[in-house]
Amino acid sequence: MNTLREHDTSVQSTILEKMNEHEQIVFCNDPHTGLQAIIAIHNTTLGPALGGCRMYPYSSIDEALEDVIRLSKGMTYKCAAADVNFGGGKAVIIGDPLKDKTPSLFRSFGQFVDSLNGRFYTGTDMGTSTQDFVYASRETNCIVGIPESYGGGGDSSIPTSLGVIYGLKATNQEMYGSDELSGKTYIVQGLGKVGFKVAVQLLEAGADLFVSDINSASITKIQERAKKLGRNVTVVSGDEVYSTEADIFVPCALGGIINDRTIEQLKVKAVVGSANNQLLSEKHGEMLKQKGILYAPDYIVNAGGLIQAADELYGYNKERVLTKTKSIYISLLEVYKQANLDNITTAQAANRLCEKRLEDEKRLNSFFSHTKRPKWNIGK
Ligand code: NAD
Repeated sequence: MNTLREHDTSVQSTILEKMNEHEQIVFCNDPHTGLQAIIAIHNTTLGPALGGCRMYPYSSIDEALEDVIRLSKGMTYKCAAADVNFGGGKAVIIGDPLKDKTPSLFRSFGQFVDSLNGRFYTGTDMGTSTQDFVYASRETNCIVGIPESYGGGGDSSIPTSLGVIYGLKATNQEMYGSDELSGKTYIVQGLGKVGFKVAVQLLEAGADLFVSDINSASITKIQERAKKLGRNVTVVSGDEVYSTEADIFVPCALGGIINDRTIEQLKVKAVVGSANNQLLSEKHGEMLKQKGILYAPDYIVNAGGLIQAADELYGYNKERVLTKTKSIYISLLEVYKQANLDNITTAQAANRLCEKRLEDEKRLNSFFSHTKRPKWNIGK
């Protein structure tokens, strides 16, 4: 279609170009509370958009826009992979989380979310806390990830760590024909909310661990826990995590840790962890494949928290969340199978599976387009 955009160099036109396949971008400005935020809705084929809200002191509106566009697209894939009836969205608040937070700022943000009439659900992400969203939830029902005392699911790192454990089991099944966790060695990078729980479950299962964290208190904590369980952990520092020989590298801290420099050093057979955006770029998935290292796509493995957030919107049920999180095992084996069959990277195979789910859903939607199907049938 020949649109005005071809000859138009206005700000609006630039934004429309950046949106590309996104459905909607909402700019929120409230001079009274100081709120400046952007909400991006990437794709609602599977259901209303769902995604966390980041608060970060972006140096420009452009930088914030780029971030929210990239992150919201990622959520479409993550929701498709987790098999929840939600689409991809994300929000960013421009500001310093250490200085600029006020209850009114989050209430104002809640009002903007509410104005979308159920097209977007949100909760905590980098720089925001559950308390911030307790304020936002006074203005809208479209909030997830609030404390149990407010009817939420509570600590999302519990299902997330369980998902990592099922990802590790599936990977052992793929590599060794048995999903036993014991008798193998794992390197856990980052002993925070998720990594610590993963490390404890691995120790309990009888595995041998190398651990690394920049926070010495976390190291002491895991050493004490290991001692109680009658087991040992070996502490590795800094870059040693990448060159240590083990069965599986379990990144639970930073993104971008699979890159030119680290792939060269890796002496593991697989990478399976919770950290978001582990591959610095797509080519690093290919490089891992070339090196014979099996990569478990991060958004499949770390979906437990998302499964819990989505479940809150159906009326939270802990058993249901844990059961659905266990299906990460099956999803991951399917990704490995497709990657082998098509001789592609596991990251490409995961993306294809998600795109297929979106296509299937589109067909279903158009098949019965004359009726409105409720989107709240979790697990069916
Ligand atoms: P966290 O902040 O609680 O823990 C991160 C840990 O990593 C901290 O203990 C920190 O000291 C450590 N760390 C930071 N830099 C490090 C380094 N260079 N080397 C070693 N350790 C380092 O975060 P979390 O909630 O446990 O999340 C961990 C990762 O999993 C993040 O990438 C997060 O985005 C991702 N994730 C978390 C969830 C969840 O439910 N919490 C869900 C999906 C994805």
